[in-house]
Amino acid sequence: MVTVIHFDRIHKGNLALRSHLAPKKCDIMSLRCKEVLPLTHYKSLASSPVCSEPFFTEAKIKMRQKVLIMRCDDYDPEKISGIIKEGMEELCIKPSGRILLKPNVVIAHPEIFPHAFTRAEFLDGVIKATKERVDKVEELAVGERSGITIPTRFTFKNAGYQDVIKKHKIKAYYFDEVRQVPVELSIYGRLRDQIFVAKPVAHCDFLINLPKFKAHPWTRLTLSLKNLIGIQDDRNRLVDHNTFLEHKIADLQEVIQPGFIAIDAIVAGQRMMLTPTPFRMGAIVMGINSCAVDTVGCHMVHVDPHDLIHLRLAAERGFGPIDLEEIDVSGDFPLEDVRGKTSNFQLCMEPIDEYFGQESNLSCIVGKFPEKHSPDYCWGGCPGALQEAMHIFKAFCPNVEREMERVRYVVGRLQGPLELDESERAIFVGNCTSWKGRIDGQGVNIESNYKTTHEVDARKTKSNDMLLKMVSSIWQCFKRRSSRYIHAKGCPVSVAEHINYLSSIGKIGNVNFDPRVLIPINIAYCQMRLNRFLNRFFDNFA
Ligand code: SF4
Repeated sequence: MVTVIHFDRIHKGNLALRSHLAPKKCDIMSLRCKEVLPLTHYKSLASSPVCSEPFFTEAKIKMRQKVLIMRCDDYDPEKISGIIKEGMEELCIKPSGRILLKPNVVIAHPEIFPHAFTRAEFLDGVIKATKERVDKVEELAVGERSGITIPTRFTFKNAGYQDVIKKHKIKAYYFDEVRQVPVELSIYGRLRDQIFVAKPVAHCDFLINLPKFKAHPWTRLTLSLKNLIGIQDDRNRLVDHNTFLEHKIADLQEVIQPGFIAIDAIVAGQRMMLTPTPFRMGAIVMGINSCAVDTVGCHMVHVDPHDLIHLRLAAERGFGPIDLEEIDVSGDFPLEDVRGKTSNFQLCMEPIDEYFGQESNLSCIVGKFPEKHSPDYCWGGCPGALQEAMHIFKAFCPNVEREMERVRYVVGRLQGPLELDESERAIFVGNCTSWKGRIDGQGVNIESNYKTTHEVDARKTKSNDMLLKMVSSIWQCFKRRSSRYIHAKGCPVSVAEHINYLSSIGKIGNVNFDPRVLIPINIAYCQMRLNRFLNRFFDNFA
C-alpha cells in the first residue's frame, strides 16, 4: 500500500497522527512541505525545528481518510477485540510509547445511567486488541474526567471499568485527581492562547479515543471531536462551556490528535447525553482522523455534518475532511444499511421555551444573549444544563414535572412583565440574564454581570468542587426561601447546580441524597480529594 500525504501546512499533531504507520504496509510517504521530516515518533516530531511551531498558519491534510463501519450486535469482549484488531490492521495502527485510552464516561450507573458511557466490555475488547498490536509500549492507561463534578473514580466503578483495568493490569488516570498543565494554542480562530488539560494527556504519545455514539442537546451529536471535552478537570472544563462550547471543542483538537478512534455504537444514545434513550445500532466505527470519523457518524444518523458546528470549525482549521467524497468508507456494515436502520434516530436540539409542555409545572422564558454569533439562544450553556438536569430528575422520579411546585425559569436578557401566577416562583439563571420589573408590587432588578471570553482569566477560575457547589446553591435557596425569586449566577450554571436549585425551589427530592448514590459518591469524593492532594504534593518533587 502506498500512502501519499500532501501537507500545505504542517501541524505536529497531524504528523504525529501518521507516525504510527507500520513501515511494511505503508512504505512510501511523500510530504510536500518546507522540510521532509522523519516520521518516527511524536517526541522526535515535537522536538524538530519545523514542528516546534505548532502551526504555520493553517493545517490541511490532503489525503483520503479511511473510516470503517463494522457490524457488532452485542457487548462480547472477545468479539469486540477481534473487530478492533482487524480494524487496527486495516488502518496500519501500531500504538507505541505512552498509550492513553480515553473513553466517554460522562456519567455511569447500572440502574440510573446505563446507556451514557462507553461500555466496559468495549473497553475490555479494545485493550486486548491494543496489547496485541503495541510496539515498544512504555505505559498503557485509561483516563477520563466524568461530567457534572461527580468523582471519576465513582463513575469508573459504576461503569465496571475498575475490574477491566485490574484484569489487564494497566493504569487508571482520574483526570480530576492529577495536575492540569497548560498547552499553548496558536491556531487561527482560537478562543485562548493557552488551555489547561490533564497532565497524562499532555504527556501521552498515542491517544486512543473511545467515544460513545450519542445525541447531545447542546451540540447535536457527541462523537470523536466532542469526546475531548473530558481531558480537562472541572475547573477548566466549564471555562467557555457556554455559547462558545463549539469553539472550545475545536480548540481542544490542537492539544492532541488521536492515533486511533473506535466508537461504541453497539447501543447508541438518543436525545440526552446523560440519560439517553438506547438505540440498538449494532456498529463499531473506526478511523484515525476525528473529522472523518465524525463526518461518517453524522451520515449514519441523517445529520448534515455542516450542522455539527464543532466539526465544521475543526474542518475549517485543517484537522480533516467534512465531505463524504473525501473519505473512504468501508467495513462489513455499508453506510446505506446503517442509514436504513436509523431513519427514526432521535436527536434533541430543542430550545427550552416549548420543551416542557403545557402539563409541566416548569415553564421557561428565553431572552436575548450577548454574543453576536448566537443572539437568540445559548447552545452550550444554561438552557441545555436545565434539560439535562430535568431528565436526571426524571430518571429518579418519572412524574417529576407534575409533582414539582410551579417554577418559571428565566434566562437571557428579558424585557416586559413576567406575570407570575400566585403559586409560582421564578429562577433567573446565568450571568447574562437581566430583567427589570415588579413581582408582588415590589421592584426587582436582575442585572447582568456577563464577562466576555477575553475578560475571563482561565488561570483564575473557580474550583467547581462538587460539595462546595452543592452547599453554596442550597444555602442561597435557603436564604431566599421566603422570596418569590432567586438569581442563580454562573456562566454556565452547571447541570449539578441546576439540580440543587431546582430541588430547592421546586421542592423536588434532591437526587444527590438518593440512597443509591449518597454514600458511594461521598466516599469517592473523599478519596478523590486525598489522591488529588497526594498527586500534586509528590508531583512538586518529581
Ligand atoms: S450565563 Fe448561561 S445562558 Fe448566559 S451566556 Fe453564560 S452559559 Fe449562556
